[in-house]
Amino acid sequence: MYTSKFREQAHQLVDWMADYLENTEQYPVKSQVKPGDILAQLPVFPPDEGESFNTILSDFDSKIMPGITHWQHPSFFAYFPATNSEPSVLAEMLTATLGTQCMMWVTSPAAAEMEERMLEWLKIMLHLPDTWHGVIQDTASTATICALLTAREVKTGFSINENGFENNPYRIYCSEQAHSSIEKGVGIAGFGRNNLRKIACDEEFAMIPAELERAILNDIENGLTPLFVVGALGTTGSTAIDPIDEIGEIAKKYALWYHIDAAHSGTALILEEFRSRFKKLDLADSFVFNPHKWMFTNFDCSAYYVRDKDALINTFSMTPEYLRTREEAQVNNYKDWGIQLGRRFRALKLWFVIRFMGVNEIKARIRNHIRLGQWFARQIEDHHDFELLAPVPLNTVCFRYNPGQYDEEKLNEINEALMNTLNDSGKLFMTHTKLNGKIALRLVAGQTNVEQHHVEEAWNLIRAEAKK
Ligand SMILES: *Cc1c(COP(=O)(O)O)cnc(C)c1O
Repeated sequence: MYTSKFREQAHQLVDWMADYLENTEQYPVKSQVKPGDILAQLPVFPPDEGESFNTILSDFDSKIMPGITHWQHPSFFAYFPATNSEPSVLAEMLTATLGTQCMMWVTSPAAAEMEERMLEWLKIMLHLPDTWHGVIQDTASTATICALLTAREVKTGFSINENGFENNPYRIYCSEQAHSSIEKGVGIAGFGRNNLRKIACDEEFAMIPAELERAILNDIENGLTPLFVVGALGTTGSTAIDPIDEIGEIAKKYALWYHIDAAHSGTALILEEFRSRFKKLDLADSFVFNPHKWMFTNFDCSAYYVRDKDALINTFSMTPEYLRTREEAQVNNYKDWGIQLGRRFRALKLWFVIRFMGVNEIKARIRNHIRLGQWFARQIEDHHDFELLAPVPLNTVCFRYNPGQYDEEKLNEINEALMNTLNDSGKLFMTHTKLNGKIALRLVAGQTNVEQHHVEEAWNLIRAEAKK
């Protein structure tokens, strides 16, 4: 093989990885390259002859690393984090080494059975309803498409998979603040994006349940069929929390499929003080949260739960002759639980992370992130030149600089410029959102290793730059 020196090269890489994880803070958080910079460094033609490991690694350092944005930098406050941790990285090394393809039980029984157990562990950790069944999807976007497709098939007696749409009276509901993946999924599932009703939110950016009911009744009156509603347990903009229980009651009353999108904030259900806010999660038909966002598990790993696993399997199961096995009735063949056939061994990294950290350490980190978010929100509140633009239920703070003398348009301009300057400094990375037409800077304290001093430094930088 090409890899007679694999052991030596792997050791070398492990040293690289350990150095990186120790020194992440020395890199600019957001890559400083311009469009095309990296492409220009990559040869137009593939090499005819193999090259040496050292040449490749040295090119990686000099040509590729400058184009990396450092998601594992503690001052990464942008988007939502995609956290990793050492145990997760170690597990990914094993996953890559085994190179298993986990489409069915027989293609690696351990992967299938570990996936089953890990999804049960997560259910226990987040105090999710006992009756749910879990499966790992690549992303929340995919999980939401699975939910839409399953709801579609259940509602039509599994006919659209066979015959396609004959007519389409179906309507889908989510809030104005819902994630774009829902609209994308509605399009992909064939319902038509124009048939997605975006329900108005209250001043805290949470869906107004009375508006949802009104939209449903209005559609029924017009001869349409309300089919599916999404509740956001933590929106992407500001982690607003829709009235999860009330939406569940409405979904039940009108027989809609109820999907809960908890992609980022679902992890906080591990905390009793947060979990206790929700009494009726069992009204949901499906639920998704991403351990790859806020549970220290390398991207990608999204936990998807359904109440009716037969409905899920009947929607996706396709077993051509060459995939038939004799164990079918006794085991989970996860190819039947989602869109793709081929699947990575993702459960392994959950097993590593949960065992290395233990539930208590995970809880402690999540609590600390929330505490940091709350601390930062207090600084904003207490400063006369800054203001919060949304409530801060968890670790995400939406705010802006507003010293008083500017109109809205100018404030948007100033805040966007402020964010760009801060990000160009390489010392932190924040992104923005728009709330009621106002540009909000968004700081998410959720990176695995973020500490008080990182948030304090960010606050000092933000104030100093704003003053300039
Ligand atoms: C991030 C996010 C998503 C999309 O997650 P992917 O796993 O990247 O598809 C969906 N919904 C919400 C609320 C999110 O925050």
